Amino acid sequence: MDQQPYIGRFAPSPTGPLHLGSLATALGSWLDARVNGGRWLVRIEDIDEERCKPEHSAAILHALNAHGLQADGDVWIQSARHVQYQQALDQLLRNGLVYPCGCTRRDIDEANAHRPFGTNRVYPGTCRHGLPSGTTPRALRFRVPHEPTQWTDWRLGSQTDKLEETSGDFVLKRGDGHWAYHLVVVVDDLASNVTHIVRGEDLADTTGRQVALFKALGATAPRYAHLPVILAEDGQKLSKQTGAQALDCAKPIDNLNRVWMHFGEQPMPAQGTVTDWLEQAMQKWPVVMQRLAHKRRP
Ligand code: GLU
Repeated sequence: MDQQPYIGRFAPSPTGPLHLGSLATALGSWLDARVNGGRWLVRIEDIDEERCKPEHSAAILHALNAHGLQADGDVWIQSARHVQYQQALDQLLRNGLVYPCGCTRRDIDEANAHRPFGTNRVYPGTCRHGLPSGTTPRALRFRVPHEPTQWTDWRLGSQTDKLEETSGDFVLKRGDGHWAYHLVVVVDDLASNVTHIVRGEDLADTTGRQVALFKALGATAPRYAHLPVILAEDGQKLSKQTGAQALDCAKPIDNLNRVWMHFGEQPMPAQGTVTDWLEQAMQKWPVVMQRLAHKRRP
């Protein structure tokens, strides 16, 4: 039995307004938290300040409200948390788990030239045992564990990631001071005591890196459930980058029903309030989750 109270979260990057794909993640994580008597946090992941815009953050929060999805507690903003990221990095540095790397993008591309086009680039470990003389550091990298990283996804089942082979030592901080996504996500989930992460399946393949970071910071990773993502007509992931449309906040129940159909359910009556709709969805969520678990990806 779980000892800790359930804490879930939704962590959008404000690179555009809320669209159908991100509403699916918001709704799934909200329902799962509510059904389990938990809290639901919202965190704005605006650490990549070149791609993120404050107006998108405001639009996302407005759209969540319009769909009846209110955060429990203050909304966290990543761009205000550099000190905490540095503290975590320092902890890893003290434990010998981070090292400076002087490799250029080109060096890494060359080391990966034998890999088929479109596959992950793996860091070959060139600077793992010290910077070659005369090289300037360009990034700080995490020393991935030699042993495979394991985690269990509620929907996708047992997962094993040999990080040495799938990513190699990955970047935590770039030379220009930019934080890498995997570090900031883990530091924030840890600091806000998140126990359950419900998010899109597109993030499942890199979850092993986050699980390894939790461990390196002396913590246990939360539980994960990766939900199917909504695809555009051409089979691409629906995303802000692929031009997914902003939701019409005047029609929240229509939007919620579209997400509901994506989860394999029949739309629910559109008369009544958003709160009525969400209450009905809560009743059905445990069965919806069970069904989704049986539709695992191959
Ligand atoms: N900020 C990420 C995104 O919008 C999600 C991160 C997460 O849920 O862990 O894709």
